[in-house]
Amino acid sequence: MSKALVIGASRGIGLEFVRQYRAAGAQVVATARSEEGLARLRELGASALRLDVADTASAAGLAWQIDGHQFDEVVIVAGVYGPRIAGLQTPSEADFDAVMHTNVLGPMRVLPQLSEALAPGARLAIISSRMGSIGLRSSGSGWLYRASKAAVNSVLKDASLLLQDQAICISLHPGWVRTEMGGEGADIDVATSVAGMRTVLATLKPAHNGGFFNYDGQALAW
Ligand code: NDP
Repeated sequence: MSKALVIGASRGIGLEFVRQYRAAGAQVVATARSEEGLARLRELGASALRLDVADTASAAGLAWQIDGHQFDEVVIVAGVYGPRIAGLQTPSEADFDAVMHTNVLGPMRVLPQLSEALAPGARLAIISSRMGSIGLRSSGSGWLYRASKAAVNSVLKDASLLLQDQAICISLHPGWVRTEMGGEGADIDVATSVAGMRTVLATLKPAHNGGFFNYDGQALAW
């Protein structure tokens, strides 16, 4: 694997993707929206681009920033959880907009700008969540975040059909991971999660296009 693009890499899972790609000798282009995030990426030897997927002008500039690149792997990681909603509580419009904007509109802004930047046989993943699965759902908590991840799974499915001649596209659940979002009590560390997802990406076949997978490679119900 020679060149990777990681969207939303200032910390957590995205930053670990950059760390592991660099350790494997890959060239990496990665995005962050803060100075601190950009500095962390440069320290790892990545080309750092400023990108806020929730900002129209910032997100629209991606295509020209990656002009001339051909990526073998693309991982769209940027995401927010939003408010901790326990039961049937209507989120505020501001919370709804913030979560949907980042988790759903963000990938819908990024994906159309990638078609010229995919190397033959490229592999692309959106980091979704098992919480977005409707088939596996046994709790109703966190319905705003869940709705956003169910929606982005639909976005991925369409992208997998529209880009099928250019890339194998999948939705990935990273596990419950010890990051700022996952919290200290989560199941696995970020290195284990990302190592698993990199193995899933590296072993993808065309038949996997449009699938939803756990970080250990297990297929998940939509
Ligand atoms: P973190 O909260 O640790 O990191 C979130 C990342 O997303 C940061 O790099 C953040 O950048 C970036 N981000 C947020 N909003 C934007 C934006 N508008 N534009 C660009 N970047 C943005 O979370 P994780 O690393 O744990 O999560 C990464 C992904 O994995 C998310 O999509 C999350 O939903 C998903 N996930 C995580 C799980 C877990 O257990 N941790 C479980 C299931 C799914 P900044 O530093 O600028 O805020």
